[in-house]
Amino acid sequence: MSRVFNFSAGPAMVPESVLQQASEEMLDWHGSGISVMEMSHRGKEFMSIATKAECDLRDLLDIPDNYKVLFLQGGASAQFAMVPLNLLRGQKKADYVNTGQWSKKAIAEAKRFCNVNVVASSEESKFTSIPDQDDWQIDSNAAYFHYTPNETIGGVEFHWIPETGKVPLVADMSSTLLSRPLDVSRYGVIYAGAQKNIGPAGLTVVIVREDLIGEVLPGMPTMFDYKTMADNDSMYNTPPTYSWYLAGLVFDWLKQRDGLEGMATINKRKANKLYAQIDDSDFYQNPVDLSCRSWMNIPFTLADPELDSKFLELAKEAGLFSLKGHRSVGGMRASIYNAMPEEGVNALVSFMSDFEQHNG
Ligand SMILES: *Cc1c(COP(=O)(O)O)cnc(C)c1O
Repeated sequence: MSRVFNFSAGPAMVPESVLQQASEEMLDWHGSGISVMEMSHRGKEFMSIATKAECDLRDLLDIPDNYKVLFLQGGASAQFAMVPLNLLRGQKKADYVNTGQWSKKAIAEAKRFCNVNVVASSEESKFTSIPDQDDWQIDSNAAYFHYTPNETIGGVEFHWIPETGKVPLVADMSSTLLSRPLDVSRYGVIYAGAQKNIGPAGLTVVIVREDLIGEVLPGMPTMFDYKTMADNDSMYNTPPTYSWYLAGLVFDWLKQRDGLEGMATINKRKANKLYAQIDDSDFYQNPVDLSCRSWMNIPFTLADPELDSKFLELAKEAGLFSLKGHRSVGGMRASIYNAMPEEGVNALVSFMSDFEQHNG
């Protein structure tokens, strides 16, 4: 068996020790004689798995008691609709800031339900910056304010939290949740698809302040109502049990590694190494403003795009997978979530240096 370093943006790497544990427990979970996959979601075995996962996540993020943690399906994309459906609460306007492809998708979906006020956009700079908050046209009567703290495609990350006063702040944290400590109390809703930085696809984590739950648009499907899910501990119907279990193993892994403070130190170091390699050469480029470069997703281009396919081919031979950039940006993208070991970044940096020497 040989495992590679997988730089995919998602589904992405899962810590090897977690996969190992899942593999050991696959046929017989803790002497139960069955796989987690085969358990009733209402049985005491799975209930203990589910409860522990929630407790560990609450611990890691220090989630205040007046927040519900929901384990849902539908991905972050379903939240693009569930957020307006649940948070408009009879109002007609919501604020969004447009910093990239995922913001755009969230905006397009919200427009089906309300008037969207785009407070600012960095589209003119090809999404390589974050508009200065002083210039945002914020509406103090908006039902909520939505942003994307880490734009997975453009590699743009907020290293600060927008100030929205009484307007509830909503964040699509799909590609950054758990990469560092977070002040959850600043938010109304935080949501994230699991397949970037948490675990396998099929699970969406939603953290929502209790007072925002319960007043929904007419005709709301039962399954999309946060209240249904909160009142039933995310078990109104069958939840994605196996993904929930694996996410729990990942939370446990994080707790054994100094939690999110520890993770932040490593993540920052990993990102800095890769940016240094890019910036110290004329051969590689990253277009993003220094102030908002992502720790998680690092796009870069080669001086000569003709060399792209050779770069990808040789990288693959060296055990460095899935470096092809998103079609809208081109070039390469290295996604280096929590589960990417520092050795993976070291290997990429040294490969890039060699490649430049031979082709630069
Ligand atoms: C991947 C991603 C999404 C889409 O997630 P799905 O789970 O596929 O719906 C949305 N927002 C961000 C920031 C992402 O990285």
